[in-house]
Amino acid sequence: MDDRVTKKIVIDAGHGGDDPGTSANGIIEKDLTLKISQYMHDRLNDLGIENSLTRVNDESLGPDIRPGRVQGFYGKGDDVIVVSNHINAGGGDNQSVTLKCNLLNKNQLDKVLFI
Ligand SMILES: [Zn+2]
Repeated sequence: MDDRVTKKIVIDAGHGGDDPGTSANGIIEKDLTLKISQYMHDRLNDLGIENSLTRVNDESLGPDIRPGRVQGFYGKGDDVIVVSNHINAGGGDNQSVTLKCNLLNKNQLDKVLFI
């Protein structure tokens, strides 16, 4: 069996609601992470890979909500991959943007959901 179909993926759109993340030049991190996450969700669905999104709109997911949301889909077993999307401003001149996708395993999950 193709190993991909045994994995379940949680796609976390970083920030949201009253937490915009970083912003510059008209780009707001929470909006871009949502668009990227929705694209990933659609593409994985096209490939038949089970996945879920932590948010589908401009929703606040504070530290009291996000971990439970992530783990609520498939638990925190070895068959679950969590991708947390963030867009970090790069360099000191604000002329670059870094896409940061965090692949989290169950041991990292509790520590690294809020970058
Ligand atoms: Zn971020």
